[in-house]
Amino acid sequence: MSKYKTSGYKGSYDYSKSEEREGRSLVRFKCGLLNTIQDVLRQRPGWVEVKDEGEWDFNWCDVGWLRENFDHSYMEEHVRINHFRNHYELTRKNLMVKNLKRYRKNQERDVGRLEASKCDFFPCTFALPSEYHLFVEEFKRSPGSTWIMKPVAKSQGKGIFLFRKLKDIMDWKKDGTRSEEQKDAAQVESYVAQRYIENPYLINGRKFDLRVYVLVTSYVPLKAWLYRDGFGRFSSTRFSLSSIDDKYMHLTNVAVQKTAPEYDPEKGCKWQMQQLRRYLTAKHGRETVETLFTEMDNIFVRSLQSVQKVIINDKHCFELYGYDILLDQNLKPWLIEVNASPSYTPSSQEDYEMKCRLLEDTLNVVDMEGRLTGKEKRVGGYDLMWNDGPVYREDVNVETFGSSYFTANTHLGCVNDREKQLRQLLKPFPGQKRM
Ligand code: ADP
Repeated sequence: MSKYKTSGYKGSYDYSKSEEREGRSLVRFKCGLLNTIQDVLRQRPGWVEVKDEGEWDFNWCDVGWLRENFDHSYMEEHVRINHFRNHYELTRKNLMVKNLKRYRKNQERDVGRLEASKCDFFPCTFALPSEYHLFVEEFKRSPGSTWIMKPVAKSQGKGIFLFRKLKDIMDWKKDGTRSEEQKDAAQVESYVAQRYIENPYLINGRKFDLRVYVLVTSYVPLKAWLYRDGFGRFSSTRFSLSSIDDKYMHLTNVAVQKTAPEYDPEKGCKWQMQQLRRYLTAKHGRETVETLFTEMDNIFVRSLQSVQKVIINDKHCFELYGYDILLDQNLKPWLIEVNASPSYTPSSQEDYEMKCRLLEDTLNVVDMEGRLTGKEKRVGGYDLMWNDGPVYREDVNVETFGSSYFTANTHLGCVNDREKQLRQLLKPFPGQKRM
């Protein structure tokens, strides 16, 4: 017997078989976070919160809970949880790169160089200390360039620094003369050393990165959705390569920028994705921006494919990833990181509303209530991007933009008229009348 209570166990509330198929009018949820997601879950018609060891049908947990409890939980057919068991294959910095490198190699072997080159969207990266010597070889090939060191298991910019000299990372040098025991004693934290993007795209002289939300509801077959909203996170200090020690200039994390002396809480440091897309379109034209967004779709799909065979697929699991993308001056998008626990803590009212929309629509896609047919290509602000193969956009000729990438059914940064769409799409909540 497991020491943990089973989840989704029938207990005193007995679901009839027809309810199993039709969806449920009562959903017992457990929530491990105290922010926007809790508000959204509490406000959802027919959902009731369970605490502590109570039995649940739906669990929005943190990754710590998952690590400790997942393997001990028996889950009934209808139960859903918001992480895959080994999500870290994509969301830990070193493992993401390892999987991407392997995927690129396999693509080159199986489909050829051209196809493999479509995986060149992550900066050159080495795991330290294990790949220290490989890193040094690469480092010496381009003297004077800038690199960034990042602890593999931290977030919010913690522990990150930029460097140009090997002596700054001496601690990560693997010393072959030490015994195993000495190595253990001298163990240093695992980092990645990554080529720093020295030519970021700037707006008003400031660097920014993009936060994009991708929802995966299955890995085998791969089914992935892209959310229309997202945002750009700006640094508060004008960008320059002359001072590599200034984290306010180089790291765009909100957690970092909030502590900057120039930070204005009224203005914040975010632009909504719609504003960014409009800005870029006005400056560079529609076609260039379409190409940029198509290249981003390529990043989302290929990064998911790179872990498709590694992630333990489980029909109970879904995952809402927060992708961090950086644009360079040539409008090439670079994948910086994928987050398993993107922040739902709002930085303003606008941000709160956006996150509520995102989370409500995530619940709409996961569909505990059984209001969908399963054939939808759009649910609120989510567009189905990949469904065991490309999902093409209906209004666009596949060849329109002459790009070698496929034109997916995505609308990142476009109008999010979700309420209208949801009204047409969804049956009312069980037990409610259509408004
Ligand atoms: P964390 O998990 O701590 O947020 P990230 O990998 O997302 O770590 O990096 C934090 C920030 O540092 C990013 O948002 C970006 O602004 C900057 N950054 C990270 N890697 C690079 C890179 N290779 N080139 C340029 N900037 C980078």
